[in-house]
Amino acid sequence: MSHLKSVFHQFFITCKYNIDLLIYQPVFLIFLTDENIAILFIIRRIEIMDAEITIIGAGVVGLAIAEKVSEEYSNVFLIEKHPSFGQETSSRNSEVIHAGIYYTKDSLKARLCVEGKRLLYDYCKKYDVPFNNCGKLIVATSENEISVIEGIRQTAIKNGVDDLVVLEKYQIAEMEPNIFALKALFSPSTGIIDSHSLMKQYETNSINNGCQIVYGSEVTGIKRIKNGYEVSLLDADKSKYSFTSGIVINSAGLTSDKVSEMVGIIDENLKILFCKGEYFRINPPKNRLVKRLIYPVPHPNMEGIGVHVTIDMGGGVKLGPDVKYLESNVYDYKLTASKQEAFYKSAKKFLPFLEYEDIAPEMAGIRPKIQKPGEPLRDYYIMEESNRGFPDFINLIGMESPALTSSIAIAKYVNGLINNTI
Ligand SMILES: Cc1cc2nc3c(=O)[nH]c(=O)nc-3n(C[C@H](O)[C@H](O)[C@H](O)COP(=O)(O)OP(=O)(O)OC[C@H]3O[C@@H](n4cnc5c(N)ncnc54)[C@H](O)[C@@H]3O)c2cc1C
Repeated sequence: MSHLKSVFHQFFITCKYNIDLLIYQPVFLIFLTDENIAILFIIRRIEIMDAEITIIGAGVVGLAIAEKVSEEYSNVFLIEKHPSFGQETSSRNSEVIHAGIYYTKDSLKARLCVEGKRLLYDYCKKYDVPFNNCGKLIVATSENEISVIEGIRQTAIKNGVDDLVVLEKYQIAEMEPNIFALKALFSPSTGIIDSHSLMKQYETNSINNGCQIVYGSEVTGIKRIKNGYEVSLLDADKSKYSFTSGIVINSAGLTSDKVSEMVGIIDENLKILFCKGEYFRINPPKNRLVKRLIYPVPHPNMEGIGVHVTIDMGGGVKLGPDVKYLESNVYDYKLTASKQEAFYKSAKKFLPFLEYEDIAPEMAGIRPKIQKPGEPLRDYYIMEESNRGFPDFINLIGMESPALTSSIAIAKYVNGLINNTI
């Protein structure tokens, strides 16, 4: 080695092999001597890897973001604590493509729903994701509710939903002969979707774009470092890993407030309250008596939009969801058989054919509410957190309905935050 002229030319091959979130990087060391060239090939294991963008949470929102940002960025990671996607709220909902009728003018909920609905229909057509643009009726079953209907139409118009039609009793009977309503608003752009197929497509496209999806790994810590964040994980074997990421996107649904706290953002206004919604199914053959979504006039403060009738792509018909804030944030998906009477009575107002024994408990979902009980409707919190001292950390908190409908528009919005175009 004494006549080694120099030891240099160290080539780091740029491609990296990611195995179980550890990066294996081949390194070629070339030694030039008088007589020989020696090449030493080693494999380095790097415990800390550099992701350009890390998304936490593979629900419908995180997956849509993963697809969108991986079109442009090459080193994108999506981390999910469950063994596969959509195991929480994204698979426990009504699967309705909402029109954007009820939300406050210019709110993110209103804007992203109206844009998202259009983008979602186009996406479904492009990728053969099953959907049905069946339409929805908002029904007034008492004189008081008739006046509310006109107010809903005006809100919808302000949101850019100008296709609502007021229907008289005889027109309702032509459309849905088995329901009762004095007057109704018909929303032709409302529909239903197979949300599992949608998420599968987001996942496939993300992977094809080069996004690495890591299932079974829970983010347990996020620390601000010089040019980004150090993200700590616990995998299914309880092994700990950490890596660095330039940008971190918190799309953790029901625990997005906790993920935000990990980085140091503690804000009472962003505390999530679990708000449960239960469904009852209408048993066959009476499930065939409605063809569209039928909604009552909503509650004034929009805590929920009332026990409604949703149909699904498999021909099932559900009543629900109701609204119940849980006392603590526990994943309580238990069904309450004793609610049958209340569901039956609510639905009977517009489904006169329904008998008590026609319905049975079906499923439950949990809304990630930042709106406290009795408070006015809150908007989504989607924020790049530079103002709080956390640049390139993007929070999505309170992503309740209609975030399934809006998922592609939300992803576009987040991409805009990354590229500073918003
Ligand atoms: C009863 C009900 C009915 C609804 N009906 C409709 C509807 O008809 N139409 C509509 O548009 N919307 C509807 N919604 C809303 C819609 O379902 C949600 O807005 C949407 O699913 C939210 O998706 P998400 O990806 O933000 O959250 P989630 O689906 O909850 O995904 C978040 C993911 O983050 C993961 N995660 C959390 N913490 C961590 C961590 N530390 N590390 C790794 N992973 C983590 C979770 O495991 C989860 O998979 C409804 C919601 C409910 C509850």
